[in-house]
Amino acid sequence: MKNVLVIGAGHVGAHIAHCGIIKNLAAHFHLLDQNNELTDAHTLDLKDTLLFSKNSSVSHTQVKEIKAEQIDIIIITAGANQLPGETRLDLLDKNTSILKSIASQLGKLAPDTVIVLVTNPVDIMTKIAQEIFDLPASQILGTGTILDTARLRWRIAERLKININNVHGYVLGEHGDSEFIAWSTINSSLTLNDPEKEEIAEEVRKEAYEIIKGKGATYFGIASSTIHLIEAIINDSREIMPVSINYPYFTNETLRQTPIGMPAVIGKAGVVDIPRTILSEQESSLLDISASKLYEASKTIQ
Ligand code: NAD
Repeated sequence: MKNVLVIGAGHVGAHIAHCGIIKNLAAHFHLLDQNNELTDAHTLDLKDTLLFSKNSSVSHTQVKEIKAEQIDIIIITAGANQLPGETRLDLLDKNTSILKSIASQLGKLAPDTVIVLVTNPVDIMTKIAQEIFDLPASQILGTGTILDTARLRWRIAERLKININNVHGYVLGEHGDSEFIAWSTINSSLTLNDPEKEEIAEEVRKEAYEIIKGKGATYFGIASSTIHLIEAIINDSREIMPVSINYPYFTNETLRQTPIGMPAVIGKAGVVDIPRTILSEQESSLLDISASKLYEASKTIQ
C-alpha cells in the first residue's frame, strides 16, 4: 500500500483521488488543503466510493499530522486555477509562492519520494520544485503534455474511425500555448492532410480554454492523466509518457535545465530513462522555441 499525499483538494486533487480509487490503486490518498471544510466534504464523499474499490483508501490530513518520511508519492495540485481568458503562465507568481510555502511546512522527505507536479504552469512549477526539494531531478516531474496528447489521440481516432489505443505519438513542448504536435511521431499522420492537421492542432491548443469557459475548470482529463502516471510509478511499469523533464539532448545547457514535455520512461524511481526523440527539423525548432519561452518566463520569478 503506497502513501500518496495529494496537496490541493480542489477540482483536480479530488478527482485524482477519485480516479485512483476507481482504478483500485493500492494506495492510501492523504488529502491536504488549506480549505478544511472543502477537504472534509470531499473526503466523506470519496469514502462513499470505497465499498466499490478493493485496494484504495482515503483520509483528510493536516500538515502537522504528516509523517513526510512515510510518503511515497506527492502530487501537487494546490494553487490558483486559470480564470477565463488567463493563460497558464499568468498563474506563475501566485503559484510559486504557494508551492514555496507548502514545501517549507512538509519536513524531511524520504530519499526515494517521487513528486508529481500538476499545478500550472506545470513545466515551470517542476523547475521550482526541483530547486526547492532536496531530491534528484529524476524524482521531480510534471504531468507535461500527457493531457494534451490524450486530447490529440481521441481526435485522430474519431476522424480515422480507429481504436484510440492504435493511435500513437505525442504533443510536445510547453503544457501551454507554445506546445506543438510532433506529427513525425504519430503513426496515423500520413492519412491526414495539412488543413486537417492544422485544425486538430488548433482544437487541442484551445481545448482547455473552451472547457474553462463552459464549466470553470478542467479535471476529468487531468485526473486520468495523473493517475495513469502514478500507476506507472507504483507498478514500475516503464511506460513512456510525455512528462515535464529536463531533456538532456538540447544542445543549449540552459534549455537542458528547463523542464518541458518530452517522452520519458516512468518507473518506481520517477523518470528512469529519457530516450532521444527523433524530430523533424521544423519540430526541433518548435521545441527550442517552446523551451526558450519557458526559460524566459522562469527568469521572471522572484
Ligand atoms: P481549485 O481552485 O479547484 O483547487 C486548488 C486548491 O488548492 C484549492 O482547494 C485551494 O484551497 C488549494 N490551495 C491553495 N493554496 C494552498 C496552500 N497553500 N496549501 C494547501 N492548499 C492550497 O483549482 P483546480 O481546478 O483543482 O486546479 C489546480 C491547479 O491544477 C491549477 O493550477 C490548474 O491550472 C492546474 N491544472 C493543471 C493541469 C495540467 O495539465 N497540468 C490541468 C488542469 C488543471
